[in-house]
Amino acid sequence: MDSLILCSHCGRRIRRADDLVTTLVLFGISPFHSACYSKVLRGWETLWVSNEPVNGVAGTLVAGLSLLLSLVVLVGPFSFFLFLLLLVPPAMRLYSWLAFERHLQED
Ligand SMILES: [Zn+2]
Repeated sequence: MDSLILCSHCGRRIRRADDLVTTLVLFGISPFHSACYSKVLRGWETLWVSNEPVNGVAGTLVAGLSLLLSLVVLVGPFSFFLFLLLLVPPAMRLYSWLAFERHLQED
């Protein structure tokens, strides 16, 4: 697949999956070049941009653990709202993959 993914910082095309960083910006997931993400974290925009990439190792780990925990919460005596809240990280990880990562070349 060859889809056009543009960096939210510089506006240029992101071509490779290993150069992609997706992160939470206000209430949405945005794609960045890894170098641009570093620049954003050092600039004033860091007020709106999450410090943790959604498509990083930690983001994937949090999504997996959150999904497992949501299943525990679902069968336990916890509120349904907590279950829905725990589904947010896996949903963000899934969106990141569907919207950006699957369109880029791995190499
Ligand atoms: Zn960029």
